Amino acid sequence: TDPVRPWNFSAGPAVLAPEVLAQAQRELLDWRGTGASVMEVSHRGRDFMDMAEEAEQDLRTLMGIPDRYAVLFLQGGATQHFAQLAMNLAAPGDSADYVVTGHWSQKAVREAEPYVRTRVAASTEADGFRRVPSVIDVDPGAAYLHYTPNETIHGTEFHRIPESGDVPLVADMSSDILSRPLDVSRFGMIYAGAQKNIGPSGLVLLIIREDLLQRTGRPMADIFRYARHVERDSMLNTPNTWGWYLAGLTFKWIAAQGGLDVIGERNRAKAEALYAAIDGSGGFYRNDIDPDSRSRMNVPFRLHDEALNTLFLEESSQAGLLALKGHRALGGMRASIYNAMPMAGVKALIQFMRDFAQRHG
Ligand code: PLP
Repeated sequence: TDPVRPWNFSAGPAVLAPEVLAQAQRELLDWRGTGASVMEVSHRGRDFMDMAEEAEQDLRTLMGIPDRYAVLFLQGGATQHFAQLAMNLAAPGDSADYVVTGHWSQKAVREAEPYVRTRVAASTEADGFRRVPSVIDVDPGAAYLHYTPNETIHGTEFHRIPESGDVPLVADMSSDILSRPLDVSRFGMIYAGAQKNIGPSGLVLLIIREDLLQRTGRPMADIFRYARHVERDSMLNTPNTWGWYLAGLTFKWIAAQGGLDVIGERNRAKAEALYAAIDGSGGFYRNDIDPDSRSRMNVPFRLHDEALNTLFLEESSQAGLLALKGHRALGGMRASIYNAMPMAGVKALIQFMRDFAQRHG
């Protein structure tokens, strides 16, 4: 890693591996000998189509995506798909189950409401969203069960895939996709805004079991219909070519690291070290999430004396540790440690936190 670059603990948009950024920089003016940047060549030309196909194949290999699932590279952010998935997976009059574990799952419910009768199958709101639920009351007649495996703001994560019986399971994996091995066959649909573990914002990755594509008899413009995007290989209209290209580079980077087993083990070790430092700080720092529900990607924490927050942020930034300020809804601090953050960065943060606690404890 380039020692000149500070460690970036930002929750997003986009925290990419330096190797990926460096390759994009090398290729920016002349991609694949075309004499143009990847953003300037036709998305229907041979070079781009080859790259796009390779990115999909690389992702299929990395995640072990079965053939009966389609993979889409779309736009609109995860937020658009909160609504669009309801339009596609539920017929008018259907009801759908939601697990509510924090900010993003609440928003998923709200955005789906114009298109489906939503029902809360489990909620941890009464516990201040400090854990994920142990029991989910799935309605066997629900069109789907939606959940948010990793709540980016609250810092909770499911460490097991919920049981949904025959009800298709739909997951917003925006902030934990590709962070560990995953059994894709347990899901009806997985979607993710690209901007944490994949690439830049403005690209959405969607993995959908093909039998779910023809579900709704609802009249809908082509642009909203997943089946049409599948028929046209995500090129119903101009795709986010730059995002698709960077996602492809990231997939190759993950493979070069050793794949999702290696990445998953790395993420487990990083999170374990950081939580141990917080828990072992004698109360100087604290994380309020139930230990079994703690996120490996987003680690919110508080200082025992909130009056030190500004100083903590100033000094950490001077020490080359960026973007530790917590989400405005919760305050405090948050260290996001996505795939691109190596253990060395987490160790640098832990060392800084120890020094700071010693000086101000
Ligand atoms: N879902 C989760 C879990 C997120 O972290 C985010 C934020 O990036 C979103 C949804 C919203 O994504 P977008 O801004 O791409 O609509």
